[in-house]
Amino acid sequence: FRSKLPNTAISIFTQMSQLAIQHHAINLSQGFPDFDCSPRLISMVERAMQAGHNQYAPMAGVIALREQISAKVEAVAGIYYHPETEITITAGATQALFTAIATVIHPGDEVILFEPAYDAYAPSVRVFGGIPKPVTLRAPDFAIDWRAVEGLMTPKTRLIIINSPNNPTARVLTDADYEQLARIIRDQHCYVLSDEVYEHIVYDGATHRSAAHHAELREHTFIVASFGKLYHTTGWKVGYCLAPAALMAEFRKVHQFNVFSVNTPVQYALADFLGYRDEYLGLGAFFQQKRNLMLAALAATRFRVLSCQGTYFLLADYSAISDLPEHVFCQELTTQHRVATIPISSFYHKEINQQLVRICFAKQSETLEQAAERLARVS
Ligand code: PMP
Ligand code: GLN
Repeated sequence: FRSKLPNTAISIFTQMSQLAIQHHAINLSQGFPDFDCSPRLISMVERAMQAGHNQYAPMAGVIALREQISAKVEAVAGIYYHPETEITITAGATQALFTAIATVIHPGDEVILFEPAYDAYAPSVRVFGGIPKPVTLRAPDFAIDWRAVEGLMTPKTRLIIINSPNNPTARVLTDADYEQLARIIRDQHCYVLSDEVYEHIVYDGATHRSAAHHAELREHTFIVASFGKLYHTTGWKVGYCLAPAALMAEFRKVHQFNVFSVNTPVQYALADFLGYRDEYLGLGAFFQQKRNLMLAALAATRFRVLSCQGTYFLLADYSAISDLPEHVFCQELTTQHRVATIPISSFYHKEINQQLVRICFAKQSETLEQAAERLARVS
């Protein structure tokens, strides 16, 4: 068999979650909450099912949901996307990413992405014959040298993938970054895929800046969002994509033969639930409390925590504890100390050891406290 992804293994999130189960470890690896979503949202799904919303949704998504998303994006971010032509509901952010990549990438096209990178990007590019061009960012700041990015641009550069707030670095992009990005793609036949699934999870009074805040970038950008992150429902796999009408028309041509449409009753429920703004406006404060709990608890350990501006992940440096490569250290942490985390090296295409692990703190306080106790015994 001629594999399209010969060098791609089972995702590190699956691997570490399985190892956690095997060893009865606390699972701070794969990013998902260990608490439930709002009971009100669940009752809205039930109500939608009982009201008979059980057949195919429109290809682009239930219009009531697209209207609510349009209103939310306008109210929160001050950016307008037309519900009929510029918003499509997808099966999670993952499908939105995959479909956006499928929409623009022809064989031989080059795609700039920043490592550490979320694991879905490069394989999705390769499936369509694209060539990932990774830019290496390093701890502790993971700052982007935009001159270096500009140096990578060729007439074949078709897409630049960004992710802010960033998984796994927990850093956010600034208006200055977007200005540089806009300058680089100006007059190029190049698009931007902006993964903003953690848009509401930012800390210390910061506000999320979207690529779409930059008027010029907006015209070349696919924005990707996820209700899994917004409402603690990662298992529902519903998200959406925003893009200017001409790009969205092309996106939908692919989308209709990829999934065609997405879970109908959940879309109706989400449309209702989006009316309760406090549910998502309070998300940053909700997770900031968890982040702070984890920061305080880790202060009593030999792990050193890097600055965490957003997402529900933080990076912990274990160089005071061990010289082991990250994947071996994570393995031992799971099997011997029974806390599962993710090695940051798995977000790079080449061997790089910064002695960093990613910790997911989207967990109940008791889970975090118990994990911190175990981490305090690692020396
Ligand atoms: N992008 C990033 C950066 C993520 O962290 C995740 C999932 N945690 C996704 C995309 C996928 O989101 P979904 O579960 O909605 O497919
Ligand atoms: N996005 C989640 C994470 O970063 C994982 C989702 C998955 O397992 N594909 O942990």
